[in-house]
Amino acid sequence: MSERKRDYPSGAEKRKSKRKREEVIKKVPKISSFFHRQDTVSDLDWKDSSEARSSSNIHSEIEESQAHTSSDVHPEIEEHQVNDSDIFEDCNIISSDRGNFGDNLSECERKIIFKLGPFKPQGPFPKDSESNRPFSAYYYSYFNQAGIKLVRPWLCYSNVLNKPYCHFCWLLADRQNKSYSSAWVNGVSVRSNFTQTILDHEKSQQHMNASLSYNNWLQGNTIDTLLQSEINSKITFWRDVLHRIINVIITLASCNLSLRGHDSDSGNFMAILRLLSNYDATLKELLLKPKGEINYLSPTIQNEIISLLGTTVRNNIISEIKKAPFLTIILDTTQDLSKIDQLSVVFRYISVTENDDNVPKEIKICESFLGFIAVTDCSAAGLKTAFLNLTKEYGIDLTKCRGQGYDGANVMSGIYGGLQTLIKEHAPNADYVHCAAHALNLVLNDAARHVREISTFFDNLEKVYTFFGNSIKRWAMLSDDPSEKYLITLKKVCPTRWSSRNDALLAVKKNFLLIMKTLYQLNLISNKKDEREECKNIINILESYDFLVLVTFFSSLFEIINPISKALQHENNDLQKSRILLSNLLNRLCQLRNQISFNSLLNESKDLAKEWGVTTVFKNSRRKITKRFFDELSQDERISDPESYFKVNVYYCCLDILISQTKERFQSLCDLSSMFEILQPEKLLSSSNEEILIASGKLSVKYSKDISVNLCDQLKALKTCLKSEIQKIYSIKELIELLLVKFNSLASSFPEVITACF
Ligand SMILES: [Zn+2]
Repeated sequence: MSERKRDYPSGAEKRKSKRKREEVIKKVPKISSFFHRQDTVSDLDWKDSSEARSSSNIHSEIEESQAHTSSDVHPEIEEHQVNDSDIFEDCNIISSDRGNFGDNLSECERKIIFKLGPFKPQGPFPKDSESNRPFSAYYYSYFNQAGIKLVRPWLCYSNVLNKPYCHFCWLLADRQNKSYSSAWVNGVSVRSNFTQTILDHEKSQQHMNASLSYNNWLQGNTIDTLLQSEINSKITFWRDVLHRIINVIITLASCNLSLRGHDSDSGNFMAILRLLSNYDATLKELLLKPKGEINYLSPTIQNEIISLLGTTVRNNIISEIKKAPFLTIILDTTQDLSKIDQLSVVFRYISVTENDDNVPKEIKICESFLGFIAVTDCSAAGLKTAFLNLTKEYGIDLTKCRGQGYDGANVMSGIYGGLQTLIKEHAPNADYVHCAAHALNLVLNDAARHVREISTFFDNLEKVYTFFGNSIKRWAMLSDDPSEKYLITLKKVCPTRWSSRNDALLAVKKNFLLIMKTLYQLNLISNKKDEREECKNIINILESYDFLVLVTFFSSLFEIINPISKALQHENNDLQKSRILLSNLLNRLCQLRNQISFNSLLNESKDLAKEWGVTTVFKNSRRKITKRFFDELSQDERISDPESYFKVNVYYCCLDILISQTKERFQSLCDLSSMFEILQPEKLLSSSNEEILIASGKLSVKYSKDISVNLCDQLKALKTCLKSEIQKIYSIKELIELLLVKFNSLASSFPEVITACF
C-alpha cells in the first residue's frame, strides 16, 4: 500500500511550527507596545524636561546611561502578547525588522510591515563591530532647544543586522531618484557623532518625501487607496473617452458618413472629436496626449468599435426577426468594386413592441438589412446555399417565410430553377413578389428600349450633360452666367434608376434658355473645330420640335409616376397600398392614351416652343418607312403625316408599353394583394357574409398550416363587434393595431384574423 500524502501539516507539525513561532515572537517585541510605552513615558519626560535643557547634554547623557535604561524597559516589552497572529501567519512575517527582508518587498509584505509599524527594540544593543559603540533607545526621541520632546518614529533598529535604519525610507523612498541613498535603507553604523548623522538624515529631501508619504498612509491614504483612487480616476477617464468615441462613431454611421480620409488624422471622426474637445475636458486631455501614447483613436480601434456595434445591432435585428411569426425575404445581388458579387439580405417582418406588462403597445413593419454575403457561385443553387448558410448561422427559421422579393433577374425570380423556386422548397407559401419600385423602373426602361425615339431622346439628354460635364470651362460658363439664374445642376442619366431620367430632364427643361445661350456663345468663341461641331449638333437636337414634345410628354409622365414610385418605396407601404397605387397609375396612363390628351400635349408643347423660340414642325417627316415586319400594323406604312406618325409610333406606343408592362409585372403582386383584400377594413365592412366565406376560404386553403377555417367566423364576429372602430381605419396594419394594441383584451378571440394580418 502506498503511503497517503498529506497536503496539509499534521498535528505534530502544527504544534512544532507553533512552538517555533512562539519562540521567535518571544524574542521580538510587539510593535504597538512602543507607541503605548512612549505615550506613558512622555508624561514623565515632560516632568523631567527641566533637567535637560540642551539637546547636546541629553545626548551625552543617553550614551552614558544607556546600559541601565534599556534593562528597565525590556521586561515590559516581553509581557506583550501577539494577538493578531492571523496576519502574521498569512505572510509568515512576524516582525517588521528590516533584517528579515530582502531588497525588494512584495505588495503583501509591504502591507503587513505598514500594519506592524516601525520596529523599535529597546535594547540592550550590542556594540557596533567597527566603531565599538552601541545604539541606544534614547535616539528614538530627543528634546529640542525649547525642551520639547520630539519623537523619531522613523528610527528603527534591526536586531538581525545589528544596525539602526530608517523605516520610512526603507518602505517609501523613491528609488528612481538620482540622489537616492541606500544607507539608511539598509542600515548605518553607529559611529562617533551619530546624533549628527541622524540630524543630517532627517534634513535630507529623500527622507522628508518618504515621511510625507508615510504620513499620508497614517491618515488613511494608504498606498493602496492612493493607487486605487488613481486607478479609479484612470478607469473613469478611459470610460468617458470610449463613451465619447462610440457616440461619435454612431453619429457618423447613422449619417452615412465615412470616418476617415486618406490618412488617419483627417476625416470626419477626428474633426468631430477636435470640435468637441473645445467644450469637453476629457477629450481635450485625450487629444493633448503626446504622439505614441494610447489614445484609442487609431483606425484599428475605430474598426473594432464599428464591428462591435455592428454585431450588437445585428444581434438585435436577428432576435426581432426570430420573434416575428412570419417574414419576407428581399434579396438582390450587386457587384462590388472588386467585381465580387454581393448578395444583399433584407428581411421584412412585423415587430411587436410590448410594454412592461407584456401587452403589445406598438406594431411596426420592419425592413432590416442584415448584411452582404460575398457569393462566388452566382447560380440559383449557389445563391440559395449562401443564403441558407446565413439563416442557419443566425438561427432564422425559413419555414416562417411567407414572401420573397427580388428583381426580375432569371436567377432570382425564374419559375424553373430560380432562387424563388428553391426557397419555396423550404417554405411552400413564400410567394414571389417582384419588388414594386424596381418593377416600375423596369417598365419605364422597357418603354425606352422599345421605342427608338424615346431611347434617342434620353441619349440626347445624356449628351447635353456630357458636353458640359466633360469640360470645366463649359460647366463654368453655364453656372457662372450673371444674367440668368442657373436653376438646377445638370444631371446624369443613370440606367438603373429611372428617377435619374426625371432629374436629367428637369435640369435641361429648367435651364433650357441658358443652355442654348451658352451653346451659341461657345459656337462663336470656340477656336476648336470639334467643339464647334459638337455645339452645333446639340443645338440642332435641342431646337427640334420632337425633342421639345418629348420633354413635355415625359415631364407630365414623370409627374404621375414619380410620387407613385416614391410611395412604393416607402417603408410603411404594404401590398394593399401598392396595389391601389398601381391601379391609380394604370388609370392615369389609360387616360392619357387618346386624341384629346395628345392634343393638349401638343398645345402645351407649342406654348413652350414659343417661349423657347423653337419652330413647331416635326422633323422626322422625311423618315423613310421601308422595312416593316408582318406583325406590325399595316397602316403604319401609310402614315406620312409626321404628327400622326409621332402620335402612333411614339406617344401611343410608349403608353401601350407602359400600360401592358405595368399590368404584367405587377400581376403577382395584385394576385397576392387581392388574396388578402378581405382583411382590408373597408372591404371587410362592405363584404357580404358569403363574400367573406369565399375570401377567407381561399386564405385558409392557401395557408392551411397557418390559418384554420375558423377565420371566416372570426371575421364575421369582428365585423359586428368592432364595426365603428373598423370604419375609422384604412389598412391591414391599422386593423392589427386595433386588435393587438387598442383592444388587446379581445385579441385572444380572433387568433386567425391576427395570423392572417401578419
Ligand atoms: Zn529616512
